Amino acid sequence: QHQRYIRNFSIVAHIDHGKSTLADRILELTDTVDKRDMQDQLLDNMDLERERGITIKLNAVELNYKAKDGHTYEFHLIDTPGHVDFSYEVSRSLAACEGAVLVVDAAQGVEAQTLANVYLALDDDLEIVPVINKIDLPSADPEMVRKEIEDVIGIDASEAVLASAKAGIGIEELLEQIVAKVPAPTGELTAPLRALIFDSVYDDYRGVVLSVRVFEGTVKPGDKIRLMNSGSEYEVTEVGVNSPNPIKRDMLMAGEVGYITASIKDITETRVGDTVTAVSNPATEALPGYREMVPMVYAGLYPTDNAKYVDLREALEKLKLNDAALEFEPESSQALGFGFRCGFLGMLHMDVVQERLEREFNLELITTAPSVTYHANLADGTQKKVENPSDMPEVASIRSIEEPFVKATIMVPSDYVGAVMELCQSRRGQFVTMDYLDDSRVNVIYKMPLSEIIFDFFDKLKSSTRGYASLDYELDDYQESDLVKIDILLNGEKVDALSFISHRQFAERRGREIATKLKKLIPRQNFEIPIQAAIGAKIVARTTIKAYRKDVTSKIHTGDPDRRAKLLDKQKRGKERMKSVGTVNVPQEAFMAVLQTD
Ligand code: GDP
Ligand code: MG
Repeated sequence: QHQRYIRNFSIVAHIDHGKSTLADRILELTDTVDKRDMQDQLLDNMDLERERGITIKLNAVELNYKAKDGHTYEFHLIDTPGHVDFSYEVSRSLAACEGAVLVVDAAQGVEAQTLANVYLALDDDLEIVPVINKIDLPSADPEMVRKEIEDVIGIDASEAVLASAKAGIGIEELLEQIVAKVPAPTGELTAPLRALIFDSVYDDYRGVVLSVRVFEGTVKPGDKIRLMNSGSEYEVTEVGVNSPNPIKRDMLMAGEVGYITASIKDITETRVGDTVTAVSNPATEALPGYREMVPMVYAGLYPTDNAKYVDLREALEKLKLNDAALEFEPESSQALGFGFRCGFLGMLHMDVVQERLEREFNLELITTAPSVTYHANLADGTQKKVENPSDMPEVASIRSIEEPFVKATIMVPSDYVGAVMELCQSRRGQFVTMDYLDDSRVNVIYKMPLSEIIFDFFDKLKSSTRGYASLDYELDDYQESDLVKIDILLNGEKVDALSFISHRQFAERRGREIATKLKKLIPRQNFEIPIQAAIGAKIVARTTIKAYRKDVTSKIHTGDPDRRAKLLDKQKRGKERMKSVGTVNVPQEAFMAVLQTD
């Protein structure tokens, strides 16, 4: 039977341990991609992924491997991202598989996302195939890493493949182990269709393209399908697999991973985690699907041109098909007009969403400073969720404010434990515990306010540990903190989009810092602009942007047209992202000023 020769697996690891490069070698060795079409990290096919050198999206491909036992196996490989902000992509990928190839860097060893991702795979009862990669590095210590995998993760690593994705070592052995260890899928071909939607993307011509794992039954063009949770029905126009380019198939059957199109234009009806079934012979019960993601941070997204509001809504709906962790709802700001309050899993996620909206949908956006969700306990005994600092109720009506805390896991060489603890402490962290992973590495756990972690904590952590620390975090609980809202006034008017929340202890200093920063960021205009920071009615900082007198370029010697042109160009670009707030033009960076701490 066909299923015996199918293997479905995801490649998971900490960021940069070599997942995508390993996928390259597998594609090569199985002749899935022509030599002349080959390029590094081939599956990172989004421009943004290539520019940043990171995987953002899961990517499923089918390939054929002729094993030593003489049989040809159909592999469905899913490459996944390693960054904590994209772990939803990982967990959705794992649900489509029977196995997970766990890549661990032979020089770095087990890191924070190694653990986080392997736990996701173990939760799904997947077979783990460990690979120790980068054995070509002079600093590689495969035997120590083998021991670490056993001690820290608690899985058998005695047969871990020693590999170099870069040099092409160990690839065949890995493929053989996948054949031997990853179980073949099961599932009746004759049962009613049940296929799990694990991803989707909007295509202008084909409508929504669903990425599915078929668990039971078969699906082919012409079939009438129903999405079990939404109830909507469609007729299948095409089924196929990506290899890595789309290849049409006559049908997809139980055990396979592929795509379905059905001229789905109604994009709000499609959800990842939903089950596809057949209208003629429907399944009675949907597959478990996925837990909904809870956004970690919220920020406002506004078109620089107010007329583009409807375009932005459409773009968000389409992007959400391909980014299931994205959430949004309409919001309006006195300063910025109509836009959306969007929920993200972290700052990188937010950055990627903004970039994708601009590139893929040709929009120009202003993003406001991100904020966590606060819980305001009101004097009347009710609790209000505050996703936008400007919505924080008046001080007089608040009894207390709670903020989200995370459990942060930091893995670091023992030499840097002091530096890590100092940093955590300075960000209001509460020490939880510390474990030695081996003689030289430590796992430090802190409970920290999420608001202190999401902004520049990771950069600070890296710089204070020479890049050696890795971080993972998960939401823990809400705790009461002494928090206050700081308002910013431009030209005497409160700008709602610039309000932020801070611990009382730092509030006045932050108010002063931000007023000073805004003074530098907001361009001079032909009138004086006072900037004030206020806590309630109390003004805690005040600066002024002087009115300009001359054109900046008039000072430049006319004999240097090159330089003059450059300067004008720079001025132009700086002005591009502006929003007029009352009579004042405020550039994009100003809205982010509250994020930087010195
Ligand atoms: P991913 O984030 O896990 O997908 O990692 P990538 O595949 O993008 O690789 C991260 C970096 O490690 C890239 O610069 C690769 O060239 C490099 N790399 C991957 N595998 C190896 C290896 O076996 N040896 C060495 N020396 N470098 C590797
Ligand atoms: Mg990658």
